[in-house]
Amino acid sequence: MADHHDDLVDYDEYDDVVESINAVPATNEPEATEEAKDKKGSYVGVHSTGFRDFLLKPELLRAIVDCGFEHPSEVQQECIPQSILGMDILCQAKSGMGKTAVFVLATLQQVEAVPGEVAVVVLCHTRELAFQIKNEYARFSKYLPEVRSEVFYGGTPLKRDQDILKNKELCPHILVGTPGRILALIKDKTLNLKNVKHFVLDECDKMLDQIDMRRDVQEIFRATPHHKQVMMFSATLSKDTRVTCKKFMQNPLEIYVDDETKLTLHGLQQYFVGITEAQKNRKLNDLLDSLEFNQVCIFVKSVARADQLNKLLTDCNFPSICIHGSMPQEERIARYKAFKEFNRRILVATDVFARGLDVSRVNVVINYDVPDAADTYLHRVGRAGRFGTKGLAVTFVADDKDAEILKQIQSRFEVQIPELPDEIDVSTYMTA
Ligand code: ADP
Repeated sequence: MADHHDDLVDYDEYDDVVESINAVPATNEPEATEEAKDKKGSYVGVHSTGFRDFLLKPELLRAIVDCGFEHPSEVQQECIPQSILGMDILCQAKSGMGKTAVFVLATLQQVEAVPGEVAVVVLCHTRELAFQIKNEYARFSKYLPEVRSEVFYGGTPLKRDQDILKNKELCPHILVGTPGRILALIKDKTLNLKNVKHFVLDECDKMLDQIDMRRDVQEIFRATPHHKQVMMFSATLSKDTRVTCKKFMQNPLEIYVDDETKLTLHGLQQYFVGITEAQKNRKLNDLLDSLEFNQVCIFVKSVARADQLNKLLTDCNFPSICIHGSMPQEERIARYKAFKEFNRRILVATDVFARGLDVSRVNVVINYDVPDAADTYLHRVGRAGRFGTKGLAVTFVADDKDAEILKQIQSRFEVQIPELPDEIDVSTYMTA
């Protein structure tokens, strides 16, 4: 059973880190290096920089300590120094590498809390992600009581957002939201973005690749002043999308922690099961009985299938819950929270849940239905094995089309996905 101590990562398990430690050229202090290898959180041995070296406000450093962050991740090392100076940033790094903290810290460091003025806008493509980002702002601004952050997204009463914006005492300095709602508030003139100094897009490719969302983002962008800091982040960024992103930016610092063709899925065991549609439930049942897991995500391709499968699992007494895009907003958030807080151990979801969300106790992902594209696969299985913790991903392959997608996944991420063996050693996908 999982412990409940919290969601934070074990950096020492991060294969990349171990690799880079081993790759560090010999130093004049061999003992120190040796010690670093053995030590927990051995980022110390690799990069001498700690959060203190970024010269962040003491209020932020205190919050960082409270959050249990000991050492900056690679992407934080690369991005924080420039981002707190107001530089434009375009950053690609795989899920779970701590991109959120980059823009949350960079904006909190720089923001001036002027009553009634929105200074930071963060846009993302789903409501859950918006909610999660808002929570990160809440955690890191704990000792900055004068800085207010809010989250606005569709599916909630517009009036609530309007009332908040009209009230100088309540108006946020940092606004996180989904494009549709933010644009609606601009159009009805309750939201004024004339004082915006920092503009952030999280999962930017998702927002810019969809034509209608891109149009909304552009319109919001145009409502902000010309002179501002623009930061964009994503786990996947095609060459075309990079070009689009850069149109919003001035001479950005480009950080690609993993080039997309090299995106490997460290620490994650991946298998497929050749199966007919009719055999899927039986196999799933067997897997849930035989595998050991902290939490499991099961991905399906439609809302109806999510509901049906969840019902089947709960009927069989599995502690399951489901989340999909056709649910009322509050329900989605409540369920997401229930899962994140470990009240349920199995989540049946459509791809609405797959991207950018952080549920670090998930160590098994089952693709009951094959994802529609290789990128979606990465986002789905990113739930298991975040920050290099161990995990297992099993994909059901039912027909030629599924097999074709599996082939694309293997070539895109340069991985071999073999057939699921009869037995798997638990220690390879479950942290002791
Ligand atoms: P990304 O945005 O790259 O997908 P997140 O920002 O969601 O990654 O980070 C994943 C998890 O790791 C979160 O729970 C976050 O609190 C935690 N985390 C981020 N940076 C650090 C750090 N430097 N030390 C410890 N935990 C971290």
